[in-house]
Amino acid sequence: MSKLKIAVQKSGRLSEKSLDLLKNCGIKLQNGGRILKASTSNFPIEVLFLRDDDIPQYVEQGIADIGILGQNEVWEKQKRVNELKPLGFAGCRLSIAIPKGNAYTGISSFEGKRIATSYPNILSNYFQKAGVNVAIEEIGGSVEIAPGIGLADGIMDIVSTGSTLLMNGLKEVETIAKSEAVLISNQALSPKKTALLDQLLFRINAVQQSKENKYILLNAPNTQLATITKILPGMKSPTVLPLAEKGWSSLHSVIREDDFWNSIDQLKTAGAEGILVVPVEKMIL
Ligand code: ATP
Ligand code: MG
Repeated sequence: MSKLKIAVQKSGRLSEKSLDLLKNCGIKLQNGGRILKASTSNFPIEVLFLRDDDIPQYVEQGIADIGILGQNEVWEKQKRVNELKPLGFAGCRLSIAIPKGNAYTGISSFEGKRIATSYPNILSNYFQKAGVNVAIEEIGGSVEIAPGIGLADGIMDIVSTGSTLLMNGLKEVETIAKSEAVLISNQALSPKKTALLDQLLFRINAVQQSKENKYILLNAPNTQLATITKILPGMKSPTVLPLAEKGWSSLHSVIREDDFWNSIDQLKTAGAEGILVVPVEKMIL
């Protein structure tokens, strides 16, 4: 039987969340951990543990059918792969930073300057579009020290909190792009593998939906049911069950995490009591 081969980062910021996602999709690794390959018994999938830099190439070549990595790596490597789905973790931005003490007057002030980065393709595209000529110094890591050692006038790197920049006396002056983890696939999957991928996507969607939603239970006097039902934008209409106490009911529904606090306030005002909010593990719409 053919197996879907998925490439995930071997060790780094994406590893744990990538494996968590598979686990939440019901895919348990038989011999998980830091080995090169792992199989599962309950879904025909094989997991390849690789450096994230190598994933776009392996997916393009079909050594892996799909992969999980940062969009920044996908954009930089410029391989022919399909970006299927943002996964909602490993969020960061690609930013240009310069020494804190330097004045900044806009993107054109980089004309003729040197910028150090590990993302030369993304950066040169950016400056080409802006019509500004810069010299790009490609370095593999510790980009933030480049201005301090006289290698460059500025840097372009991944930023999440900005504390690394701050520690190195740099300030962020331009954000080039926002990035998060993404699922990519080979562009010529067999029908069998496409069917497996569809199954996996179905599960990923169920997991993502559930994360965005909460299950809510509350008690309310029957006289308030109509008002409260209007506040709860549930999947369909909320479930209403009579309580042992006369004139009271229990309402159950699913609400979006985003609307959560807002709805809670409105519900309390409308007379809801004993409000319980519980996580949803899977959600199939
Ligand atoms: P590898 O050894 O696999 O090449 P790496 O050192 O290139 O690992 P990590 O530092 O583990 O990569 O980061 C992996 C990805 O996590 C990045 O490409 C980026 O998409 C994302 N990421 C999110 N926040 C940050 C951050 N603050 N710093 C670096 N990467 C981040
Ligand atoms: Mg890497």
